[in-house]
Amino acid sequence: MKILVASIGHESNTFSPLPTRWADFTVRRGDALLDTAALGDNALAGIVDTLRGAGVELVPAIHASALPGGLVQRDAYDRLRAGLLERAAEAQGACIFLHGAMVAEGVETADASLVCALREALGPGAPIAVAMDMHGNVTADWVRCADAIRAYHTAPHVDQSATGAAAARMMLRMLREGLRPSIGFVKLPLMYPGEFARTDSEPMGSIMRLVAEIEALPGVLSASLIKTHSWSDVYDKGISAVVVAEGAALAQAQAARLAAAFWERRYDFPKSVEAYPPDEAIAVALGAAGQPVFLSDSGDNPTAGGTSDVPALLGRLLARRAPSALVCGFWDAEAVRACHAAGVGAMVQTTLGGKVDRANGAPLPVTGTVRRLAEGDFYRGGSRLAVLRVSGVDVLLSEERIAVTDPAQLRRLGLEPLEYKIVVMKQGYLFPEFEALSVRSILALSPGATHCDLTQLPFRRVRRPIYPLDADTTWSPG
Ligand SMILES: [Zn+2]
Repeated sequence: MKILVASIGHESNTFSPLPTRWADFTVRRGDALLDTAALGDNALAGIVDTLRGAGVELVPAIHASALPGGLVQRDAYDRLRAGLLERAAEAQGACIFLHGAMVAEGVETADASLVCALREALGPGAPIAVAMDMHGNVTADWVRCADAIRAYHTAPHVDQSATGAAAARMMLRMLREGLRPSIGFVKLPLMYPGEFARTDSEPMGSIMRLVAEIEALPGVLSASLIKTHSWSDVYDKGISAVVVAEGAALAQAQAARLAAAFWERRYDFPKSVEAYPPDEAIAVALGAAGQPVFLSDSGDNPTAGGTSDVPALLGRLLARRAPSALVCGFWDAEAVRACHAAGVGAMVQTTLGGKVDRANGAPLPVTGTVRRLAEGDFYRGGSRLAVLRVSGVDVLLSEERIAVTDPAQLRRLGLEPLEYKIVVMKQGYLFPEFEALSVRSILALSPGATHCDLTQLPFRRVRRPIYPLDADTTWSPG
């Protein structure tokens, strides 16, 4: 029996004005998918290694991912779908990774549509197991079209290969034992930014201990608490509990138990992080002991689809005359070109940001000195760069939209985060490599397509009521 393997990942932020094009995806096909060493900590690597290790013959289809961004253009979605299905006729089952938060033009729950397209292509008897990100949006169609679903158990995500392996082990049981498990699924009228639900802090830590307890029950194959992607305005969304088990009653009862536990703690999640409006966040950071203090410009986070060109927090930082600060990964192609034209040491008068996400701030006029010019490799892309010093604040500007996720990226440019009092990241919760350097990390509730106060965003499509948009939302396990 041959099993199709694939990985398609996009986090679509419908509040971003920047559409995601086919050209934004990095695509691998065929045998390149089987080079798991090149994939690193990746769900597809876990799937491939586990299935191949068990002697299963694989049909590698497509591996495609792009930096989170706006709505996926229809032709890009159609090409992803075609890539997933083109070798389906050779396979008798599928074990794939989908991020789970893709929204395409005319296809609101794109991942569910992909799973159902695969079901149609493979037929009703073929086993389908799906590994997914914790920030996806599972739907009833997805549950109906798959046999098994398993999401990451950690945020920040440090178990990507392990999640792929867990999905692959369910696939092996289906192949060897002829097992066809049931999926229990409960969706809550609730959404939170991922920032409020780190698995290494409370209350999410307790929820994940319950997930582990459920997974250890006889007859249960896997349990997942899937936190949805907060920044897409789609009708059918919400935090979900998914349990895969032998028998529908067991699966549904345990999914309901997990959902109820999350609902019970719903008011505790926002208290789990130190977060303030921008001015207060800057004041707290300036007054904090030691350095570097990390300040997340959380409303403009490119790893969740922000444009990274919202200048609001930078403007407040300059107005406060912060003495020593580094601002990482600010996207402004015009400013980078101006810096490169002027050269290192030159004085440049320009504007920063407000050119793509015009809804969340106007271009900020600045005069600064060019400190460095370089090129760099970043999370899913490279770019020409410039470091512009504006009254004590070093701003790392990029010509392409990038995400700075590792201090090594800065050090290669000669920027040492430890030398600054404040390091501003266009990020939500810090990636683990930055967390390790930080004496304190503070979330600035800044504006942008990834605003962590969801009541500040113009939701129109999502099914109401949903918390926190509707403060008095009720739910019962019924
Ligand atoms: Zn995620």
